[in-house]
Amino acid sequence: MNASELYAYRKSHGLCVSCGDERAVMGKVRCVRCAQIHSVKQQMYHPTEEQKERKRKYLRDYQHSHHEKYREYQRRYREKEAMYEW
Ligand SMILES: [Zn+2]
Repeated sequence: MNASELYAYRKSHGLCVSCGDERAVMGKVRCVRCAQIHSVKQQMYHPTEEQKERKRKYLRDYQHSHHEKYREYQRRYREKEAMYEW
């Protein structure tokens, strides 16, 4: 039995097409757990525009905060240096 035959077999018997252990949710091909996993994978490989935008915002904020920390570090370094200037 190849993968697509297995898929068809599980689907026709009302089993989850991913794990084959659980019964599929009514009107769906996967059980609750596999549906969640599938949804996360879909989001990873095919993110919607909204998800992409959220990711971009997250990265922007991260870079920004990192930049602030770096500036703070530089400032302290200069202060310390100044202390040892005679
Ligand atoms: Zn399953």
